[in-house]
Amino acid sequence: MKVTVFGIGYVGLVQAAVLADAGHHVCCVDIDPDKIAGLKKGVIPIYEPGLEALVLKGTREGRLVFTTDAAMGVGHGQLQFIAVGTPPDEDGSADLKYVLAVAETIARHMAGRKVIINKSTVPVGTADKVSAKVAAVLAERGESLPYAVVSNPEFLKEGAAVSDCQKPDRIVIGTSDSEAEKAMRELYAPFNRNHDKVIVMDVRSAELTKYAANCMLATKISFMNEIANLAELLGADIEAVRKGIGSDPRIGYHFIYPGCGYGGSCFPKDVQALVRTAQQVGYEPALLQSVEDVNYRQKQKLFQFINRHFKGELEGKTIALWGLAFKPNTDDMREASSRVLMEALWAAGAKVQAFDPEAMDETIRIYGQRSDLKLVSTLEEALAGADALAICTEWQPFRAPDFERIKASLSEPVIFDGRNLYEPAALKAQGFTYYAIGRGDSI
Ligand code: NAD
Repeated sequence: MKVTVFGIGYVGLVQAAVLADAGHHVCCVDIDPDKIAGLKKGVIPIYEPGLEALVLKGTREGRLVFTTDAAMGVGHGQLQFIAVGTPPDEDGSADLKYVLAVAETIARHMAGRKVIINKSTVPVGTADKVSAKVAAVLAERGESLPYAVVSNPEFLKEGAAVSDCQKPDRIVIGTSDSEAEKAMRELYAPFNRNHDKVIVMDVRSAELTKYAANCMLATKISFMNEIANLAELLGADIEAVRKGIGSDPRIGYHFIYPGCGYGGSCFPKDVQALVRTAQQVGYEPALLQSVEDVNYRQKQKLFQFINRHFKGELEGKTIALWGLAFKPNTDDMREASSRVLMEALWAAGAKVQAFDPEAMDETIRIYGQRSDLKLVSTLEEALAGADALAICTEWQPFRAPDFERIKASLSEPVIFDGRNLYEPAALKAQGFTYYAIGRGDSI
């Protein structure tokens, strides 16, 4: 099928590359000329396992093209994906200006029937707004061309985005237009062979499904963090509690890891956006608001440990930091816990010596060169001459480090672990002071 994707970010690029790999012909449109120029030369703007090979293959085989020419994009696809960002507005609700700008672009250039697909995470009612925008522009043009607006939320996880797109758990399609449903089923047929993963529903339910999924996951994390904080105060070990509750199949082991808070481009903004949506319809979402509040507090936790350990005397201290990305296998630092920690350390007069396997360039892009941030190229280098080690991301290479070397490098053997990577008793036996999340004997 001929497909156009507007917005070549984490979602759009992965979706486009995976669709092209399945045999579809995909035209990728973005307003960022540097990104498109880079992609034309095979430069992949983000880190995502398996993505580079797919993009290069699709480009080489002629099924994946990149352009800033919106008219060309609209002309190409019978299916038009909107995969642009929906960042939080000032009041936390999702800002739809990019989504509606694409809707307007499609309406300006379309010459025949189009299926317009909202892939971006958008509040309930957005499909109606997109539809109204298209109708208004077509009316302005004096045209009455057929179109359908479909909601098709994306559930990929950064760090595993390619495999999630290739093997989705479910494909949610929100539409009441049978022709559009047929086209969507045809598009996703290559990913739907093992068993039927397509769930068709009305547009509003599809839009709410995406928020409900992310809010549920964020709730699980904040719940565990709340119990972890209690465990600390009560002298219990959250790791034992986690195993104890995960064994109940109604609870399960997935996504119940405590830590120094969730980040990323989705959970924080989607929880806030659903809070705003609820308030707009006169409902006070007490649980969702608490999920956000708990997470905000949790992101301060490592700094509180560090500050308390050094008795508030952080001026001139150097903290080695392992992990800058908001989670492993990505270079994404949006809302990352590492940022909250670094900014608090800087404000207290400390220096940071940091290493991340993928997010170094992104860190420079965000913070530029500064005298209190030294980025180094190995995890060992981060330790050299530092006063303590803090860990914000559970990258695989951090899981089994050389503890003797850590001890020899740090001026004091102390680790502040925001991801509970190590065994407190083992570290204590090796002479470390070890702070983790919700592990009784760490405090
Ligand atoms: P992103 O910021 O990485 O990419 C958005 C892209 O859209 C940018 O390259 C930008 O230049 C481009 N853009 C903006 N306006 C445009 C226009 N008018 N025409 C063409 N391109 C335009 O965003 P993302 O992380 O890919 O997220 C996109 C959407 O998908 C968001 O709504 C997000 O909530 C949702 N989502 C994200 C994830 C994730 O893990 N990142 C997962 C599921 C859903």
